[in-house]
Amino acid sequence: MIILLFYILHGYEKRRKGNWSMLNSFIEKTDVIIFDLDGTLYEGDGHFSLMVENLKKRLPEEHHQDFDQLYKQSLAGEHSLTIGKVYDIQEDVIWTWNPFTTELTVAHNWDNEVVEIEDAPKKLSVSEFDYKRFVPIGDGWWPPYSIARHFGLKNDDTEWAYHRTKEQMANLDGFLEPTPGLRGYLEELAKTKKLVLITNSEINDVHRLLKFLGLDHIFSDIVPSALKPKNTNKHFEEVLTRYDVKPEQVLSIGDNFMNEVAPALQLGMYSVWLTTSEDVPVEDKKFAKIRTLAQN
Ligand SMILES: [Mg+2]
Repeated sequence: MIILLFYILHGYEKRRKGNWSMLNSFIEKTDVIIFDLDGTLYEGDGHFSLMVENLKKRLPEEHHQDFDQLYKQSLAGEHSLTIGKVYDIQEDVIWTWNPFTTELTVAHNWDNEVVEIEDAPKKLSVSEFDYKRFVPIGDGWWPPYSIARHFGLKNDDTEWAYHRTKEQMANLDGFLEPTPGLRGYLEELAKTKKLVLITNSEINDVHRLLKFLGLDHIFSDIVPSALKPKNTNKHFEEVLTRYDVKPEQVLSIGDNFMNEVAPALQLGMYSVWLTTSEDVPVEDKKFAKIRTLAQN
């Protein structure tokens, strides 16, 4: 009876927070932990709804309902547009992509039908994600982006929506929540591990944000404007050299599967994907998913 209760509670905890026992075992095995910043070291995903509303401001009203419908299906995992896929702007299809072999395997149209694409490349490495034709759906920003492009929005429109959303996040209350207990947790980790921050944000934003979150004393190295995923490998290799460690001594934690998770696993590092998504883009014993770094 007690054992049964244990399993029920354990299962509940796992659904609520994700697989923390795996995270802890990865931490035990590694010496250097690489963190992403945005979406990783603070909570909340309300800004994705802001992004959706901002995109719709540039979209003719006749498409609004279909936009919402596709977004809803995507969030529920009921559409081929899910995190871990690649959106092909040129052909307007969604590719299934293998992060280890880098193969583009199957293309789906927006009605979830398999389609043949002539002359498509068989493989696509992370450095070939150009955002002109191929867009990696790495985190919650990219499904609404892809739907908007599908309905004909141009890059200028999506850029506008992105910057407006970022401004609103800085100005509106509640879109940037510190993660409960994170500061103490990272301070404890920093006593025995090297903690490195690699982020696409620019240096001024990084310092402002870290200060706001009370995390400006945590990291032994900060790499801003990192241009992930294109340059993720380069930065990871530099970490290996600088700290004189092997890939299996490094753990990468981030909310973007393409930017922080796939490249780490490719190199043989451990990786934890911070997400509320139900998707499981890869089966790997060095990979785990958790929902939050909150400590309660
Ligand atoms: Mg991020």
